[in-house]
Amino acid sequence: MTKILVIEDEELVRENILDLLAAEDFDTIAATNGRIGVELAVSETPDLILCDLMMPEIDGYGVLTALREESVTATIPFIFLTAKSARGDFRQAMDLGADDYLTKPFTRTELLSAIASRLAKQAILAKQVCTKFEAQIFSPKFHMMEVYLRRTIEERDFQQFLVYYQPIVDIHSGRIIAAESLLRWQHPKLGMVAPTELIPLAESTGLILPISDWVLNKVCQQTKLWYNAGFTDLRVAVNLSAHQLIQPNFSQKIVNLLLSNNLVPDCLELELTENIIMQDINRAISTMKEVNSFGVKIAIDDFGAGYSSLIYLKQLPIHTLKIDRYFIQDIANDSQKAVITTALIQMAHNLNLQTVAEGVETEQELAFLRQYKCDAMQGFLFSCPLPVAEFEKILFAKKRLNV
Ligand SMILES: [Mg+2]
Repeated sequence: MTKILVIEDEELVRENILDLLAAEDFDTIAATNGRIGVELAVSETPDLILCDLMMPEIDGYGVLTALREESVTATIPFIFLTAKSARGDFRQAMDLGADDYLTKPFTRTELLSAIASRLAKQAILAKQVCTKFEAQIFSPKFHMMEVYLRRTIEERDFQQFLVYYQPIVDIHSGRIIAAESLLRWQHPKLGMVAPTELIPLAESTGLILPISDWVLNKVCQQTKLWYNAGFTDLRVAVNLSAHQLIQPNFSQKIVNLLLSNNLVPDCLELELTENIIMQDINRAISTMKEVNSFGVKIAIDDFGAGYSSLIYLKQLPIHTLKIDRYFIQDIANDSQKAVITTALIQMAHNLNLQTVAEGVETEQELAFLRQYKCDAMQGFLFSCPLPVAEFEKILFAKKRLNV
């Protein structure tokens, strides 16, 4: 049964909404003010929240801000209910990460259709995570991993996480120009957990947020160390999750990280997949524009593997297009992959984007990419993802790709 939390201080309005929802077979919980609302949201994790804007103690903005910062409530669909209809209020609510906004008095149909459309969108999001990993998510092992991961985060035992770095190499000069940071989890009981298990687990539980914050900070610290060691044009990429992109304070977080680590912004690159962008294209565009205005670079990750809408390429301030490994594997012998990849490289260059081929494993693949002027490569042919000390060995030794 779908559980809806109603946060509303006016008794009459609250009771009306609760009756209406109960008649539609929703499971309901009610809070009479913002503080109780936040507590109930955390303890009950409802499927959707309806929240009044004007309330004593904590108002609706305060409630939403608190919920988006808490990992268990960060992604719960949130609809504002308010008597105010000024455009500025609407903008402020949406900027804070609200999913919808209803102006009182609203009709029963308006309310139910807003709820239905948010729940449908949430179901699609959940399905995207689930279909791929359904078998894992419902397995006892996955459940055990979730218990351990929650504990690790609650105890803030971040030493269990490691950041590996995989070099990205300029195909023409052979130089290491960048590195992609990749998360690993070394648990005392589970051992090294594969990223293919960790990431879906962290995404589906919302625990990705505290982990991502830790990773971003760690990467900025490390990048600064390499910068100080003379690698001033080394760019380090961090993978973003959809949860981070909808955080209301995301771009401010990036600014704070750059400032606290005294890091040059163009050393940092944020990688987003097409699917993350398409989940909320308008928010992706505005957030990425903000982040890019500070000088941070943006890459589209796994390009070609997700939605094929290309229109946003022009709207987003992208620097790098990373071509999905699927197209690279055996490219020299697969004419369809060859046609698509050469077209992608051409298109990227016309848009002034740098191209990186992912998952390059053979000399044949590299030769093809070189012939068709792909700018850079990443893959086992040059190096797998490495722990810091190993990565530094090849960075400091100025290991090059044979050209
Ligand atoms: Mg990536």
